Amino acid sequence: MHTRISGIGMTSQRTRDRLVQRLRAKGIVNEALLEVMGRMPRHLFVDEALASRAYEDTALPIGFGQTISQPYIVARMTEELLRGEPRRVLEVGTGSGYQAAVLSQLVEKVFTVERIDALARRVRQRFRQMGFRNIQLKHSDGSWGWPSKAPFDAILVTAAPPEIPTGLLEQLADGGRMVIPVGGRNGQTLAVITRRGAVCEREDLEAVSFVPLLGGAG
Ligand code: SAH
Repeated sequence: MHTRISGIGMTSQRTRDRLVQRLRAKGIVNEALLEVMGRMPRHLFVDEALASRAYEDTALPIGFGQTISQPYIVARMTEELLRGEPRRVLEVGTGSGYQAAVLSQLVEKVFTVERIDALARRVRQRFRQMGFRNIQLKHSDGSWGWPSKAPFDAILVTAAPPEIPTGLLEQLADGGRMVIPVGGRNGQTLAVITRRGAVCEREDLEAVSFVPLLGGAG
């Protein structure tokens, strides 16, 4: 019998398994992370019209000129972030909420900031419906981080600034890691910054393509 239960039937699980295979093939090795991405219903984070494409390894539009990141990039950034075994994590650029949802299954507490009010409202409702209780969301300009909740063991930025915002570095705990795409129209690089006291080490990983980190809250 082929019954479809609001899209979350066997078919979705099989397509999710295929996505996990693709992530493995691209070099993702963190088993806990692969397990979470293998059960996270990404189709619930995009418009219904795009739900059938939710398990392709591509970025998809989520309105307001923004995108839900490509699953491989979500996996890559999360894998780098988890190396420091963080407990409290700040995400800048909530977007669809998918990245925050994945993180919420792997760390104790996720703080996420989104500058577009309509997206922030939509995602807050989505988190409530889906029962994510360890994610706190704020509508504001995330270039300033979330000072009252700092320091964070790790910071994940999912929109690209031309330069690394120093305000964010200040909210990173000693020994903490920040994963961030940096650059402008001529190309962006995914960087990992590790804070050691007053000094920050930078390691560049690979070329990426993110929407720009914008100033102000809309
Ligand atoms: N992590 C998201 C993808 C985000 S796309 C996901 O999993 O779906 C990048 C997001 O960053 C967009 O929603 C954009 O509005 C937001 N953004 C851009 N500049 C920002 C800023 N200064 N502060 C907070 N959010 C910002």
